[in-house]
Amino acid sequence: MIIDAHCHIWHEDWMPPLFWDLLSRMIGRLYAKAGRELSPAQIREEVLERHYFDPQGDKLIRALDEAGVDKAVVLVLDFGLAMGEGKVPIEEQNRAYGQIAQRYPDRLIPFASVDPRRRGAVELIERAVKEWGLKGLKLHPTAGFYPNEAITYRLLEKAAQLNLPVLFHTGPVPAPLRSKHAHPLHLDDVAVDFPQLKIIAAHLSFCWWQELATFAGHQANLYCDIAGWQHAAERNYPAFCQVLRAVLDTAGPEKVLYGTDGPFLRPFVPDGEYLRLIRELPEQAPSSLKFTREEVNGILGGNARRVLGI
Ligand SMILES: [Zn+2]
Repeated sequence: MIIDAHCHIWHEDWMPPLFWDLLSRMIGRLYAKAGRELSPAQIREEVLERHYFDPQGDKLIRALDEAGVDKAVVLVLDFGLAMGEGKVPIEEQNRAYGQIAQRYPDRLIPFASVDPRRRGAVELIERAVKEWGLKGLKLHPTAGFYPNEAITYRLLEKAAQLNLPVLFHTGPVPAPLRSKHAHPLHLDDVAVDFPQLKIIAAHLSFCWWQELATFAGHQANLYCDIAGWQHAAERNYPAFCQVLRAVLDTAGPEKVLYGTDGPFLRPFVPDGEYLRLIRELPEQAPSSLKFTREEVNGILGGNARRVLGI
């Protein structure tokens, strides 16, 4: 079974205008690097409308089908306190994820999200799980809180009580988000203080992957996903293989989960392409780096199954 452990479903009205501005600028830079200048209107039409706006999750399901992925974890995002509120309140967004997942119960595993500083955050997570069927918790500390501070711990206590896996964004981010909150060091505290909690650090913490891998090697309940590395994998496969080999050796082969961060990079690197680069590691990695079929099967789904309890 192949599981993408890190996806999003986006609706224009769920995210604040500043989010779309920032994202559009990032997309513009990615296209410019590839030698194409796109106007803001072209970015809106060719990328946001065609690939990103997906309020029913149908585009995601099509992408999973095309790539041959069985299930995807879909993550609500709450940037309201950092970027301004979207038109739709965060509570409604969590409920909508539950409804979309009900349309595709065998395919989607929805994770709730709420900024822990919001009033009623703990109650919202409880309702999201018990009433709307969400299965985990996603937190984006770059909005302005630390994973290991008291206000976040109230939410993590609820997650532990409800037996929810918790996925944290880790790795640097652009303003107005703050990178200092996204260092994997803070998750070491969480792993120590909540030994029962299954914790996933997203994106291998990007440039902090060595630190993350070391913490994950020490803490039995700390995992990581490889979402957002598809550009790196495509552009310089030997360097990517070297990072991944080091992470598997340091953190343990059972700790690494496949993920894409879809739909973000999907217009640039199709999911099936990233999947192929991982699947072919035993044959295609530089000969000095050995990957086994068992390791690849773990990354592509076996490890996520254990973390998610499926
Ligand atoms: Zn993400």
